[in-house]
Amino acid sequence: MQVFKFGGASIKDAKAVRNMSEILKRFPNENIIIVVSAMGKTTNALEEILHLELNGLSTDTSIQNLFEYHASLISSLFDKNQSKPLQLLEGLFDDLKTKLSVINKSRYDESYDSIISFGEMISSKILLEFLQKEAFSISKIDAKDCIITDDSFRDALVDWEKTEDITKKTIEHEFNHSQLIITQGFLGGTQDGRITTLGREGSDFSAAIFAYCIDAKAVTIWKDVPGILNGDPKKVKDAILYQELSYQEAAEMTYYGASVIHPKTIKPLANAGIPMHVRSFSSPEKGGTIIHECNIIHQTPCIIIKEKQSLITFKLQDFTFITEALIGKIFDALNKHHIKINMMQNTAISFSICVNDDLHRLDQLMKDLKEDFSIFYNKGLELLTIKNFDESLISRMTNGKEIYMEQRSRKNYQVVVKEDLMSF
Ligand code: ASP
Ligand code: MG
Repeated sequence: MQVFKFGGASIKDAKAVRNMSEILKRFPNENIIIVVSAMGKTTNALEEILHLELNGLSTDTSIQNLFEYHASLISSLFDKNQSKPLQLLEGLFDDLKTKLSVINKSRYDESYDSIISFGEMISSKILLEFLQKEAFSISKIDAKDCIITDDSFRDALVDWEKTEDITKKTIEHEFNHSQLIITQGFLGGTQDGRITTLGREGSDFSAAIFAYCIDAKAVTIWKDVPGILNGDPKKVKDAILYQELSYQEAAEMTYYGASVIHPKTIKPLANAGIPMHVRSFSSPEKGGTIIHECNIIHQTPCIIIKEKQSLITFKLQDFTFITEALIGKIFDALNKHHIKINMMQNTAISFSICVNDDLHRLDQLMKDLKEDFSIFYNKGLELLTIKNFDESLISRMTNGKEIYMEQRSRKNYQVVVKEDLMSF
């Protein structure tokens, strides 16, 4: 048994969907769980629809556009006389409109999940119909009935015990009569049946959850990149493909902001010793990157750029030094407002943190701390991390840049610089 994950870009139009089917044909004798995202940019479109609705604005045009996007995909994938896929789509959009009309503004997170989940519900239904038409032996299960979570909507926590129990039984049952199973990424459900989501880009994590529960042979994430590179090719010239990475190396890369895989993905796979492949859906004959248990002595340096960063400095005015108690106050406030530190540093009289530029949260933080500190604030920065750095790479990356904060440990180098269209 294997798990494949197809993200939004890999199913964004009819050509991509046909390519997905070609990839599956390469594995005629395997039981595969196919975890799918919403098609193309559907999740963003649904977020926009929700915000229009919550602001009392008309959603008609946006809903129509999203409907037409999926309808045109259906018309390219199916013959005219096959009316079922379009009927299914119409039914889902009727449900979406009904849900929007009864939305509870005071429960934003729960409303968010009930609306945003439509992207994956739609894609999984269309793809099931298409793959059945292509003569695959395939059935569908609903992730919300298998991945059981708490009710922290938008970032739900998995109840592993219940999830493993239900998922195992459901999957074993389906594989008795189908070669393939399709299901939705990103979604879960509370025990009382309310839909939840696992955090944006969470489908990778879903694939890992399914793999863990059935002790899969491997997980493959099919992507629009050849595998995991040592830098974002849009920003880093001559980015190099990793053939293999250890779980730890990959997990740390996601921590520092590498967006190629969702940060929660690695842990369940590492715990169960399941390898993960990241491969190109446009060159499926290539091997891509494998993440597994391994020990690589000289790891190629990796460059991670985290954009939209702010630097906040808390300063004391009257020759008082920064004490642990004062730093404790800052940490309490950060914890209270759910702000994650990406880098920090202290001097005799100041404490500085680099954090994501989340205006609302940072405002609250500064309100809480303004009695105790003078606060200085810089926006529009980016945090550059070089894992396994070497000196020449540091000078190439920082050449001519205004440095706001800099730090190095034995293996990692980090620097906060002004955001620009950097290319190195
Ligand atoms: N569709 C969701 C998103 O765009 C989940 C995913 O694609 O991983 O965030
Ligand atoms: Mg994704």
